[in-house]
Amino acid sequence: MTVTKAERVRLLPPYLFAEIDRLKADLVAKGADVINLGVGDPDLPTPPHIIEKLAETAKDPANHQYPSYSGMNDFRISVANWYKRRFGVELEPLSEVLTLIGSKEGLAHLPLALINPGDLALIPSPAYPVYHIATMFAGGESWFMPLLKKNGFLPDLDSIAPEVAARARLMFINYPNNPTGATADRDFYERVVRFAVRYGIIVCHDAAYSEMAFGGYRPMSFLEVPGAKEVGVEFHSLSKTYNMTGWRLGFAVGNSDVISALGQIKSNIDSGAFNAVQWAGIAALEGDQGPVAHMQKIYEERRDILIAGLKKAGLHPEIPKATFYVWCPTPPGYSSKDFTSLLLREAGIVTTPGSGFGEPGEGYVRMALTVSRERIMEAVERICKLDLENPPPK
Ligand SMILES: *Cc1c(COP(=O)(O)O)cnc(C)c1O
Repeated sequence: MTVTKAERVRLLPPYLFAEIDRLKADLVAKGADVINLGVGDPDLPTPPHIIEKLAETAKDPANHQYPSYSGMNDFRISVANWYKRRFGVELEPLSEVLTLIGSKEGLAHLPLALINPGDLALIPSPAYPVYHIATMFAGGESWFMPLLKKNGFLPDLDSIAPEVAARARLMFINYPNNPTGATADRDFYERVVRFAVRYGIIVCHDAAYSEMAFGGYRPMSFLEVPGAKEVGVEFHSLSKTYNMTGWRLGFAVGNSDVISALGQIKSNIDSGAFNAVQWAGIAALEGDQGPVAHMQKIYEERRDILIAGLKKAGLHPEIPKATFYVWCPTPPGYSSKDFTSLLLREAGIVTTPGSGFGEPGEGYVRMALTVSRERIMEAVERICKLDLENPPPK
């Protein structure tokens, strides 16, 4: 029997990183010393008090049964308290907070809760690929909002035609931003709320990097803006804040109708997050925040070393106030892929081509600050030795 894959699987774009992965594997096989600035996965360990809470609560048989679908009340109360402390935003823990098995899970299920076949979703580009793919899985159509340097990598809402906006059901935004490292201010979020009210659009703000910011900068919550809770939800993750990518714990907060719709989808697909992981999440949110400040200092130092090195090499990187990404324009004459393959072949450095996050990302590469300062210094040394003056070797 030949297996015919569903259209939604056949429509998936070819795996962008396949060629880079292959080149990288070749180099590693040849014994090359490869520096991986490709993936956005923290290299630092989860703080010990969080691990201890997991170990302790994993032993309690009460936690071995199916968790509650929408998350433990204690976890959701702890999220509401964190929101109040961190952003001054009031949340009703049981109707306005939903536990997620990582925020990617919730982001991917959201369109199933809100989009009918043929509906439009406004999606930033370049962006985390989940927004577009999940829209496609729900039978929706993506309308891409380019994130351009001239607009500070914010979508230009005025350039969205009224007839497009009128067809849109959902808008995704993400600040601090992956992959550009850009941040958004109150004025932007106010404009988003006005736009959403005018056209009846639900806003989904992905705030995965709200705690990964430098030099005293504290990103705000979308929900701090008056009216935001009427039109939208915000997604958070413990992954980046507490170095917990492997644990799979996140949450969605905000508009109770959206939260309940997402909960309805989820209760038919998964059965919630392991209670012991949620207890560990409570320990993370309520415990000593010293490790977060420590994490911020480490990434800031790495950022400064990489930025200085890239400038020395004649490149003109964006200087991120937040996230662990550096968004760096390619040298003249190099496409995103030309430059990533040059960096890999000639310097043994893995980066991600900006074009892989969407066409407006062409002309950039993304570098993740997820290796030690010594390795970043080594990467910088190798980049400075490259000949970037001449057009790419084809
Ligand atoms: C890492 C990341 C997430 C978080 O994913 P989890 O599923 O919570 O680990 C969400 N959005 C963006 C933009 C990210 O980069």
